Amino acid sequence: MTLSVDELVKLFLNHGYLISSDAAELIRSRFTTREEILQLISRISARDRLVVDREVVEEALDRRLEPEPVVEVVNLYKVPNIEPNIEGFKSYFRSRFRKLTRILKGIPSMRGAIPIANASRLGGEVRVIGMVYSVGNRHIEIEDETGRIRVILPQDFRGIVLPDEVVGVVGRVRSRGDVIAATEIVKPGFSRPPKPEIREHFRIAIISDIHVGSKKFLEREFRSFLSWLRDSGVKYLLVNGDLVDGVGIYPDQEEELEIKDVDKQYERLAELLSQVPRSIRIFMIPGNHDAVRQAEPQPPLPEDICSMFPENVQCLSNPAWLNLEGVRILMYHGTSLNDIVESMPNADYQNFDDALKEMLRARHLAPIYGRKLPIAPEKEDYLVIEEVPHILVTGHIHSTRVIQERGVYLVNASAWQSQTRYQKLMNFHPVPARALVFDTRDWSFRELDFSSPR
Ligand code: FE
Ligand code: ZN
Repeated sequence: MTLSVDELVKLFLNHGYLISSDAAELIRSRFTTREEILQLISRISARDRLVVDREVVEEALDRRLEPEPVVEVVNLYKVPNIEPNIEGFKSYFRSRFRKLTRILKGIPSMRGAIPIANASRLGGEVRVIGMVYSVGNRHIEIEDETGRIRVILPQDFRGIVLPDEVVGVVGRVRSRGDVIAATEIVKPGFSRPPKPEIREHFRIAIISDIHVGSKKFLEREFRSFLSWLRDSGVKYLLVNGDLVDGVGIYPDQEEELEIKDVDKQYERLAELLSQVPRSIRIFMIPGNHDAVRQAEPQPPLPEDICSMFPENVQCLSNPAWLNLEGVRILMYHGTSLNDIVESMPNADYQNFDDALKEMLRARHLAPIYGRKLPIAPEKEDYLVIEEVPHILVTGHIHSTRVIQERGVYLVNASAWQSQTRYQKLMNFHPVPARALVFDTRDWSFRELDFSSPR
């Protein structure tokens, strides 16, 4: 039974589209059932258009013949490759320096950058690239494989320089060759990533820091999120670390543990996740509370733990890359935010937007080395942000943020744990039980609050 033109027009209107008469004709000649037409509507990508004409329908028909949309998962890190000695550290920093230098050399003002030793010798106007060795009041020291030099920051410089990040310097070498008076500090930075063509629109839900096993785990709120998921239209669920509360993570943690055995904590998490429809793919990375090494990058949860979860769950490393049908996402737990926030005079745990932006400008997930966050001296630096994602996801701070910076979403996903004793001591007030939901249709985030009973 072919649908009448009226029925067809109504069906499209219900989905927010006006349909032209030639398009209606084309559809009626091809399809008979309502289901087929609904499928076609889901393939329409008339993004900024309200009117569906013949051309739009033809495009949607073509798209049907294309292969399934791509989901790519890059586990950045699997097997440790460390030399726990001075050579190991050297090769780690060499990798960091080279990867970031490559990015900096692509910036026009950094063309013709020369080694620091040459700059001191030649004098005059120079461009150099170096890793920040120390940060002073109005100056920094940078170094490369050839030497170290002091850099006076430009008068009008209002930005922030973090220890161990890699920056470019444009300036004039003073006569003795030991100081550069900089006119410009250049960060690797990033340009707007091109938006992908989405074939069939979908939603991604992002949460973090569930902390199962803690007495402060908000189980009721979490269950309310899980039941919301069922009819949410969400296709992918990302869980950004601190899946459980763990054991022995901080002093006297035991007093705040409901489940004192780590395996049992994961078992409980598996039980909860089994309520998520199998059609939703779940990607999980570990955080500093999980049962893997603390040093970053962190490997995925071990097989004996991951195998407890339902088959729609995939355990990834921290950090990890996803390409969900064209949407490129970098998942990182965010433990480095402690060190970054503490190095920034104007940032704190209620106000860390700049810390998130700084990560992206420095193109490094953990620019500062050797403070609270342990970084494993892998042969290669996996924490460099080599490609610019559409969405950079962090967590760990137990509150939510959605910032857009030059077409990149920087989002911090919330926790499912109420204030702990430690957080109270630190005068930190978490904003728990929120889910962030990204919709490809309008390319935007919504924040959903599950903290009050629905
Ligand atoms: Fe956490
Ligand atoms: Zn954490």
